Amino acid sequence: MANTAEESGNFAAILAFWRDAGVDEAIEDAPVDRYAASAAQPARPPVTPTPQSSTSAPASPAIKRAAAPPPVAPPTVPLESPAAIADARAVAASANTLEELRAAIEAFEGCALKRTAKTTVFCDGNPQADVMIVGEAPGADEDRMGKPFVGVSGQLLDRMLGFIGLKRETNFYITNILPWRPPGNRTPTTGEIALCQPFIERHIALKNPKVLIFAGGVSAKTLFGTSEGIMKLRGRWFDFRPDYLPKGVPTMAIFHPAYLLRSPAQKREAWVDLLAIRQKLDELKIN
Ligand code: URA
Repeated sequence: MANTAEESGNFAAILAFWRDAGVDEAIEDAPVDRYAASAAQPARPPVTPTPQSSTSAPASPAIKRAAAPPPVAPPTVPLESPAAIADARAVAASANTLEELRAAIEAFEGCALKRTAKTTVFCDGNPQADVMIVGEAPGADEDRMGKPFVGVSGQLLDRMLGFIGLKRETNFYITNILPWRPPGNRTPTTGEIALCQPFIERHIALKNPKVLIFAGGVSAKTLFGTSEGIMKLRGRWFDFRPDYLPKGVPTMAIFHPAYLLRSPAQKREAWVDLLAIRQKLDELKIN
């Protein structure tokens, strides 16, 4: 009968299995043997019933053991609770410049994604540019380099925007909904998005761009606050007027470049959207 990978000691196969399942990050610096930790706990003696009325009787050994601290500390980072979201909102609101916001996000410990990410990815491009682009979340390359859209999809985005005269160094500013990479590049959960939303909203408010571009469905749905998909949202100009901006901003959603890499047939639509963006920039006399 065939052995399992574990029984045959084929640890490369076990690691490959976990990597393919999206588990590709270690949370602690050192491994924790949880089997050994639970084996080290003293065995529970049978619970002897104590009379309800004997308030002065000493606590039974079982009760004392139940109160002892567990051998392995539970994770201290809270999940995306309403309190954590309120905390993120307060932290974001306290920042009055982009650099203060960057520092505030870097110091924020309320999002579990930060534990698995190597870096906080805040922004790239020219902070003075009139055009701001918002993507979804850093991938592995972005996490390593600490900048958004530097991997293959970012390089495609740069080429696409280059066709209409927009260069990262001079004409646009770029960031993401999430500043931390979801492990294994999985899609962020609604809880993670809700927790990070105050940061991106404050980011847009402080940047105060003349034109906004949402790259991909996650960015467009989150910031427009709609359940409509990217197929319906892309290629249309919206007068985006959230309460955190002083006035309406012309905003367009476009296909995410990673989607275009997977579905090159959609590049035709992407090109139409790019030309519409160029036309709007010309109307607004933006270089
Ligand atoms: N995809 C994104 O949405 N953002 C990045 O920074 C990289 C890939």
